[in-house]
Amino acid sequence: MSGQMEGLVAIVTGGASGIGAAIAAKLHDEGAQIGVLDRDTTGADERFAAFTADVSDRASVDAAVAGVAERFGRIDIVINNAGIGAQGDVSANDDDEWARVLSINVTGIARVTSAALPWLRKSPSAAVCNTASIASTTGLPQRALYSASKGAVSSLTRAMAADHLREGIRVNAVNPGTADTPWVGRLLDSAADPAAERAALQARQPHGRLVSPDEVAAAVLYLVSPASGSTTGTFIEVDGGMAALR
Ligand code: NAD
Repeated sequence: MSGQMEGLVAIVTGGASGIGAAIAAKLHDEGAQIGVLDRDTTGADERFAAFTADVSDRASVDAAVAGVAERFGRIDIVINNAGIGAQGDVSANDDDEWARVLSINVTGIARVTSAALPWLRKSPSAAVCNTASIASTTGLPQRALYSASKGAVSSLTRAMAADHLREGIRVNAVNPGTADTPWVGRLLDSAADPAAERAALQARQPHGRLVSPDEVAAAVLYLVSPASGSTTGTFIEVDGGMAALR
């Protein structure tokens, strides 16, 4: 712990669980104050201010971001991490489900970042990090809608980086591989033999195990910290080598 985030305030969406919780803890350990924005704040660390909001609902996002600013007096960092999955090929989900997933995984980033922009513009250390996925860059079977949403997160990351370059707001993303989070736990628990399914899932990973949320958080910390001050519009793969094997 170096205290490199001392004095900064970070919003972490989806910060009550999994990768988001690990990011919130990592930034807090480095000195940042944290506003968790989650539709279900149950389990949000008691060290963090928690705001119940659904990133697919602009009014609740605006209220939560205003709440973070009111509580801490500034916003320097936005971690757009909230996201949901979708299974199946291109025909598997109806129009309502396409709209719902894209509204959370993609438009949610626009809503939260838009609400925070006036504060980011005032910060000398402004940075945004989006949680994309290995699905952004790899053709994963039976993940058509999810992959479309995460590919859009990658494009949006580059566009945001270009738009806000001159304002000193850096925008980057992480591409996690399969990570050991409650989300993946729920998928495994729905299998007939969860232990066997977990072993098979681990065996499919290039480095023989799931990615740890803390490993993703370490990459995010770098991308929003002063150490990466000349880095914007880029991605860090935290995937055990999956992208290298493409
Ligand atoms: P998780 O389900 O453990 O946590 C997600 C959190 O987001 C939860 O606290 C949930 O309440 C919150 N959330 C979901 N929808 C929301 C909404 N509409 N508004 C506000 N909050 C909402 O999931 P996770 O595995 O930690 O995934 C976090 C992110 O990482 C997601 O964007 C996911 O796509 C991405 N990701 C996960 C993996 C993986 O293998 N777990 C791999 C690559 C990318």
